[in-house]
Amino acid sequence: MPSARFLPVCLAIVVSGLNIEAQTPPGRQANANGRGNGTASEQPAIAFSAVHIDEPCIAMTFDDGPSATLTPRLLDLLAARHIKATFFVIGENVAEHPEIVARAAREGHEIGNHSWSHPNFAKLSDDAVRRQILRTDEAITAATGKHPTLLRPPYGAITARQKRWIHDQLGYQIILWDVDPYDWKNPGPATVRERILRETRPGSIVLSHDIHAGTIEAMPSTFNALEAKGFKFVTVSELIRMATPPKARPAPASQSGAVLPGAGSISPAPSATPAPASPSG
Ligand SMILES: [Zn+2]
Repeated sequence: MPSARFLPVCLAIVVSGLNIEAQTPPGRQANANGRGNGTASEQPAIAFSAVHIDEPCIAMTFDDGPSATLTPRLLDLLAARHIKATFFVIGENVAEHPEIVARAAREGHEIGNHSWSHPNFAKLSDDAVRRQILRTDEAITAATGKHPTLLRPPYGAITARQKRWIHDQLGYQIILWDVDPYDWKNPGPATVRERILRETRPGSIVLSHDIHAGTIEAMPSTFNALEAKGFKFVTVSELIRMATPPKARPAPASQSGAVLPGAGSISPAPSATPAPASPSG
């Protein structure tokens, strides 16, 4: 099984990424939503829609839950495959089903903040945004015992100014995405799977929603197909820690010496990914 063979590689990179982080500001390694990619800036990256990475690792993210019925089904699927994912939860739903969020955290998944009631941040006052984030932070912390460090704004709607103060004042990294199967439009499991397979690259952050039955139905064959292509699943924070500086000039795969066996069919992620402009998220 390729997955069993390559798993230790991804884990090793996570560990070495931790060591690198201690010496180098994250802004030197990672995409800052298309800006600040290892240039003269010493500021840490505050927003990510994908991560520049040399290994075939990706982050699956599931928004808008927890759902009383669908999230536990997804957790069962993930557990059976030893896959770690990231859940961007809505505070109102956490308050209703804290035990599901607690289970997800206990089973090694990352829990991110997706606001209290899913408003468009770009249309809210700073005070209202702060309340949305902090109330959800409290609910997640009560359920899991751990403060979230990742925020995904509903619809991906957030201004540059909001990104900055939410990061500086509340300590959050802003997480968008580069793969969007538009699963919320219920296109059917096969289409969800095909869109994810077509768009996913090493370092991708894949968006979907654990509140739609069609998304959950799509996941077993999607996970299988991604694994068959050599991808490994990590949480968003792990993916960010694995970030490498974008190369000035991509070396041919045959000369780089860094390409994993079996990973040759996967092309590198672009060094800068534009922010999503869709009603997803
Ligand atoms: Zn959402």
